[in-house]
Parts: sequence; structure tokens; C-alpha cells
Amino acid sequence: MQALITGGAGFIGSHLAERLLGLGHQVTIIDDLSTGSVANIAALKDHPRFDYHLDTVFNHHLMAELVDGCDVVFHLAAAVGVRLVVESPVRTLDTNIRATEVLLQIAAKKKKKVLITSTSEVYGKATKVPFHEDDNLVLGPTVQGRWSYACSKAVDEFLALGYHREKGLPVVIARLFNTVGPRQTGAYGMVLPRFVSQALLSEPITVYGTGEQTRCFSWVGDVVNALIQLAETPIAVGRVFNVGSGEETTINALAELVKQRTGSDSAIRHLSYEEAYGMGFEDMMRRVPDLTRIQETIGYKPTKTFPEIVDAVIESMRAGEDGNKQLVRTVAGANVQRTKESAQILAVHPGGPCAPLPIVKETEPR
Ligand code: UDP
Repeated sequence: MQALITGGAGFIGSHLAERLLGLGHQVTIIDDLSTGSVANIAALKDHPRFDYHLDTVFNHHLMAELVDGCDVVFHLAAAVGVRLVVESPVRTLDTNIRATEVLLQIAAKKKKKVLITSTSEVYGKATKVPFHEDDNLVLGPTVQGRWSYACSKAVDEFLALGYHREKGLPVVIARLFNTVGPRQTGAYGMVLPRFVSQALLSEPITVYGTGEQTRCFSWVGDVVNALIQLAETPIAVGRVFNVGSGEETTINALAELVKQRTGSDSAIRHLSYEEAYGMGFEDMMRRVPDLTRIQETIGYKPTKTFPEIVDAVIESMRAGEDGNKQLVRTVAGANVQRTKESAQILAVHPGGPCAPLPIVKETEPR
């Protein structure tokens, strides 16, 4: 297959590119480096079946050419991470909705299959777990920035399903549940890389709220395999799939486990949501996927247990394999990254890595 990955220099996108190349496919990526990083694709740049464009999905001419040349588009370009979403709502809405619209318009003209990555965030604060794909979405008020992310991804889903029904575009929607693994950065709020870097730096591990809220963390290797299988399965077209793990853990237990597995002397410090994200922040207490549909459709089965996932992330961050070397210093929710790359970002954007970054317009030579 000839695959195009939008957001291919991001955490999940770069793992997907690597896996597709490993399976013998041809891979082209496009990424504006707003949250992705060239370091994530450094090992792939010289691969004979890999091609990359540091550009934005809004470059219509380039996108038309790239979509034309591929069989399947994996659409991963998005503004993600609770911190980023809360701090940059305009960017979130614009990137998530407009970019998807542009892509679907182009793909519809060429009738190319599109896999849209959505998020478990769309379930919002629904309390009936596990979450089934056809369940109601329960979002909070518009004055709370967090919900703009869920809403933007729900609009993406509506758009994709609309293009499928009205224009016959083959689309598949994957709702990802807390994907973790090497190369994920904690700069945009993601809890596991944040806890591991805090533990490795002997800084307090910052648990927000009571810590009794739960998540199911899924291994990035399992997630990208599922995305590929979903894209290759005809009966998946026009449908929505949860992609995640059924192993539920509290954030307190995660903090304890990270502390124990790193052998860290870090204290575990509880911060209120107000301290972490500002007034009126709402979190969901439980988030568990119903995996029946994806199991029945592609025989999906996670390969790593939760402690194995945590160990693998610790190992990669210790080894600096994560590309960004994202040892994130966290001071009451603020982020200061310690890499050369992020020092540059911080110098240009004193608001920190969450401040809006420029869109890179240049297209690198092939
Ligand atoms: N969280 C935390 N400390 C942090 C970052 C996150 O306790 O430094 C909590 C967060 O409030 C949420 C959970 O960890 O309850 C997962 O957060 P994340 O941002 O990784 O993903 P979410 O599931 O909220 O999208």
C-alpha cells in the first residue's frame, strides 16, 4: 500500500510510519511540526520507501498531489493534549476541524480511503462504562475550554461519516484511548511521560485532583497495528471503532507504579485541577473502552500489560530514545523542557511549548 500520514512526525504518526515501512509499504508523511518533531522521524528519513514534507495540510496544492499518489490516508494531524487544548482553543478548533475538512474534500475528489483518528475524549463526562461506540456523548459547557477538543473531534467524525454517506467516500474512524509509548511528550499534558520524567528528575510526581480518576493506557505498537488493520478491512468502512486497552488504573496507582519502577525518591504531590489547569476544569472519573466491535472486526488484542507498558516507557526515556528527550520539568503545571530544541522554542515562545508555534511552510527536498 501507498500510505499518506498527516501528522506523521508526531508521536503516534511516527510509530505508524515505522510499522508500515516494516510491513513493506510505501509511506509519505506531512507534518507542520507544531507538536511533532523531526527527531521522531530521524531514523526513517533515509529509508528508500519513505518521503516527508514539513508542511501544513492547508497547503491545498501539495495535499492534492499527495492524496493523488496514495491509496490510503491516515489522518493524525490534530491539536491534542489537554494542556494545549485548554491554553490554545483557537488553534485546536482550527487545526482539528478545518484540516479534516480540507483533507476530506480532496480525498472525496479522488475517492481515496481515509482513516480518521478521533479520541475517547468525545465520550466527554459520560458515566456509563465501558463506552460503546454508539453511546451518547456527554459534553460540558462551551465556556470550559476542554470540551472544545471533544467537540472538534466529534465534528471531524460527523464530517467523515457525512462524506461517506453523501459522497461515497470510504472512511474509517478510530477513537483512541490514552495511547502511550516512546516519543510521547509530556509537554501538552499527557500524564505518563510527565510522571516518568518527574520521577527520573527526582521531582514531585504531580497527581491532579484526588487521583482516583481512572484511565486505560494502550501501547502505541498495538494502536498502530490496529489502525493498519482497520484501514485494510473492507467491513470497517463507514464505522467507528474504540481502540484501547481494557486494563483500568487509577492515576494514584500510576504514580505509585512509576515511582516504584523507576526506584525514584520523588514525593507524590496532589494538586487541585484549578492549580493545574485553571478555574472550572472538569475531568472524567472513569474512561474505559468497550472493545467488542474492534475484537469482532479485526481480532484486536492488546499485547502488553499495564506494568509492561510503564516499564517500556521508563526504559525509552532513560535511554533518551524518545527523540525529544522530553525530560520535562514541571512546576505547578508549567513546563520547561530541557532539550536544545525546546530551549529554542522557549526562547521564541516565552509562553512555553504550549504557546502557539509557527506553521512551517517549507517543504524539505526529497
Ligand atoms: N494528570 C495528572 N498529572 C499530570 C497530568 C495529568 O494527574 O501531570 C491526570 C489528568 O488530570 C487525568 C489523567 O491524568 O485525570 C490523564 O491525563 P492525560 O492528560 O494524560 O489524558 P486525558 O485522559 O485527560 O486526556
